[in-house]
Formats: sequence, structure tokens, C-alpha cells
Amino acid sequence: MFRLDGKTILITGASSGIGAHLSVVAANAGAHVILAARRRDRIEALVDSIVAQSGSAEALELDVTDTVEVANAVGQIEVSFGAVDILLNNAGIAFSGPAIEMEASDWDRLLATNLSAPFHLTRQLMALNIAAGIPGNVINVASILGERGASMVAAYAASKAGVVNLTRALAVEWAACGIRVNALAPGYFLTEINKDDLAGEVGDKIKRRIPMKRFGELSDLDGPFLLLASDASRFMTGSVLTVDGGQSAGV
Ligand code: NDP
Repeated sequence: MFRLDGKTILITGASSGIGAHLSVVAANAGAHVILAARRRDRIEALVDSIVAQSGSAEALELDVTDTVEVANAVGQIEVSFGAVDILLNNAGIAFSGPAIEMEASDWDRLLATNLSAPFHLTRQLMALNIAAGIPGNVINVASILGERGASMVAAYAASKAGVVNLTRALAVEWAACGIRVNALAPGYFLTEINKDDLAGEVGDKIKRRIPMKRFGELSDLDGPFLLLASDASRFMTGSVLTVDGGQSAGV
């Protein structure tokens, strides 16, 4: 039911953390995976390991904030595949600190990476699907911070709130064109993006507030991701699937 055989999926931010993990999950489910990120050595190594396990994958060096690189990548995909079946907008960055001290350039870079980049990549890629009449499936990696506030993460929370409502707006706009758009909203998963912030007592304090009393493990995302990526979710669009051990369910 959750197989992706014959599907092509582009995963941004595939060089580490959630994106690297879900690249392997997608390949194991039978998809051809295009792993995109800036660190070419990382994605090439992961492609090699997927192929060594009889999976199908290729590396795409891509800075999602670079409009020229994005246009070239979309052109390359059109030539090679016509369109992708699934797009996982996962690339993201975070800054934590007092809002008053945040540099304007850091705000701009965060919004460019987390919100503007998925919008532009999505609209350019899905234009191919719509023109060719190929169904499209977009999954945006949001965050529980897209639907609630927290101290020291104003820009990140604002960007993820944008991702949540971008998901809903595009879902409504494109439902009649055969394009589904959903979001995954993870709670806390220890990865490169947050390992410094969650070390020690700060992390322990957060963990105590999570009803399941632990951070997520990357494999906790496998089922929710495969649900959204596969036809098992064919009547779902505009949904935000929370995966957080109950953290955002309570007060
Ligand atoms: P990582 O830091 O491990 O991964 C971030 C990925 O984004 C890297 O592969 C990085 O690749 C890529 N990236 C960053 N900037 C760019 C760019 N300009 N162009 C292309 N790729 C870029 O963190 P996570 O795996 O945790 O994060 C993945 C997503 O999950 C993010 O959107 C994050 O906000 C979200 N998320 C994470 C949570 C967590 O607790 N970990 C919770 C909720 C949401 P490279 O540097 O090679 O380009």
C-alpha cells in the first residue's frame, strides 16, 4: 500500500538529517530518488550507498535559494523525466536567539531558504506536471513551530507558519489539476539543525514537556512520510500531519 514503485521523487536537503533518512526510505519503497543539497560529497556518498543496496538514485547539487541553479535543475528534470511525481521540500535552516538581536540579513536568509525557496521550486516543478497532465504530489516539511509560538525562534516559527499556509493555499489552487500538497510537521528530532541547541539541560527540559518523554527518532517519520508520498493518501490534500510524540496536543 505504501510502495513508491515507478515514482520519481526529488528530495531537497538530502545531505543530512531528515532528508538523508527519507531518501533511503523512498528508495527502499521503490522510488527513483533525486537527492538535492549543496554538499555534493554527502549526497554522492548516499547515492552510492542506495545504489549498492539495489536502489535507484542520483545526486543533484542544488542551492535552493539560487534562482539560476533552480531554473537549471527544473530544466534538467524536464529533459530527463518530463516531471517528478513527488517533491519533498525538506531543506531548511534555523537560528535561535533574541528577536531584537537578529540581523536583518539572517532573517532574509532564513525566509529565503525555508519559505521562498520551496514556493519557487514547487511552482516551477508543478508547472511541468500541470502542462503534461502528470499528477503531482508535494510534501512540505513544516514544523510544530509552524502552528504555535516559542521563545528565541521568531524567524523560524514565522517561516514554518508560512509553509503551513502555503501548503493549504496551493492544495486548494491545484486540487483540480491533479496536484496534492500536504505537510509533515515534526516535533523535535536530533539532527545537525538543532544538536547544539538541544544539548544538555535545555534538551532535557524540552523532553520532559513531550508526553512521550523523548525526542523523535528519524524512523518515526517513515510511516507518515510514506502515507503522504504514496497513493494511500490519495484523498488527502492541504493536510498537516504532526509527528511529535503528543507535544502540540496538550497545553
Ligand atoms: P539538517 O540540518 O540535518 O538538514 C538540513 C538540510 O537542508 C541539509 O541537507 C542542508 O544541506 C539543506 N539545506 C540548507 N540550506 C540549503 C540550501 N540553501 N540549499 C539546499 N539545501 C539546503 O536538519 P533536519 O534534517 O532536522 O531538517 C530538515 C527539515 O526538517 C528542515 O526544513 C527543518 O526545519 C525541518 N524540521 C526539523 C526538525 C527537527 O527537530 N530536526 C523539527 C521540525 C522541522 P546542505 O547544507 O548540504 O545544502
